[in-house]
Amino acid sequence: MKMTEEHRKLLFGLYPPKSFANGKFHKISAFSNVGVVETSKGLVLFDISSKLNGPRVFKALREITDRPIKYIIYSHGHFDHCFGYLPFLEEIKGKGWEVPQVIAHENLVDRFKKYRMLDKYLNWLHDQQFGSVLGENKKYDSAKETLNPTILLHGNENYTFRLGEYTFELYHDKGETDDQIWMFVPEEKVLFTGDFIISVFPNVGNPYKVQRYPKDWAQALEKMIEKEPEHLIPGQGPLIEGKEKIKEILSITAEVLNFVHDEVVKRLNQGKWFEQIYHEMLEIFPEKFNHEILAQVYGCYRFAIHAVYRLYHGWYDTGNPTDLFPAKTSEIANEFLKICDVKQYYIRAKKLFGEGKLQLALHILDVIISATEKISSEILINAYKLKIKILQKKEQNEPSFIASNIYLNEVNKLKLKIINFK
Ligand SMILES: [Zn+2]
Repeated sequence: MKMTEEHRKLLFGLYPPKSFANGKFHKISAFSNVGVVETSKGLVLFDISSKLNGPRVFKALREITDRPIKYIIYSHGHFDHCFGYLPFLEEIKGKGWEVPQVIAHENLVDRFKKYRMLDKYLNWLHDQQFGSVLGENKKYDSAKETLNPTILLHGNENYTFRLGEYTFELYHDKGETDDQIWMFVPEEKVLFTGDFIISVFPNVGNPYKVQRYPKDWAQALEKMIEKEPEHLIPGQGPLIEGKEKIKEILSITAEVLNFVHDEVVKRLNQGKWFEQIYHEMLEIFPEKFNHEILAQVYGCYRFAIHAVYRLYHGWYDTGNPTDLFPAKTSEIANEFLKICDVKQYYIRAKKLFGEGKLQLALHILDVIISATEKISSEILINAYKLKIKILQKKEQNEPSFIASNIYLNEVNKLKLKIINFK
């Protein structure tokens, strides 16, 4: 299923603010969601969005209530959840209010440190992941300046506090990251999941990102079910309401994570290598996971298989010693071109493309494109053009936004190569 307009709205937070539970709870969407609880003693915010979206969240919040913020809780240290604080700090300074308590898991402190160490790399990485969509408007958040936590959750400890008429129960579990917190307010049975739930397939196994934790993720969702929530503010997407509906969403998400995890583990125990595990797993995807809450428009099942494999496996993943210390791709391609004429590779790739064997066509074309031997410019440009066509075709049928962007990025690079060729 290709990403629909509805999915786009959902992923980019294009929803108006929503109030519920006696009008004291609010969800503000700005790419990711910000949860707001209004108490007689002030506000509790669950997440504070990105630097880019902070002003939008601030404006929306101040249209709802003018009460001061007493607590900010970071669901985890990702850029779209804790970097939008600037307009709030300005207001606090301007009004002479007390600076709010900021609560996070202790691993978030290390995450911010890591972000600072990898600042340039992360800009490059975000260019890869979002570059083809953002075009010239690229500007990413940096962790050089952060609003740091004042209260830390250590290890697996929980943290509960009261403000006004509500109790705020905070729990730590690993899932998308190792610094995640989810929150439950028992008086109104409101669950704040952060990115444990993003209204589509869990973003586990993102090809650009560090290790994620599918089994812990499933277990966290099972703990949330026990709370019998009646309202759910997800990390992204609209407010979810109704005990049964929420139970179904939490259960099916836990189930798919358990499924991928346990099936990969079973195959690791059978002594299988990645390629075999991956292709076998593609064959056994259960129909029931074609659920709207598991739409594979951002993360996807194929990525999730990688996530589990990588969690338990080293980088040597083929079982073929040829791949242990491989030669350069260009040298391998040069050797292939010595076996038969470059034209034959192009003809073969074109034939495979005609037969709809797009992936195989790419492998053959890459022999021409990766080679450093002198190749006639006509063939090389034709190879670039054919690769562009294949990638565009794959992109058209690709549900995952992340995979789509990987294809489109390469299309843009190849187009530039053609322009610069003359
Ligand atoms: Zn996240």
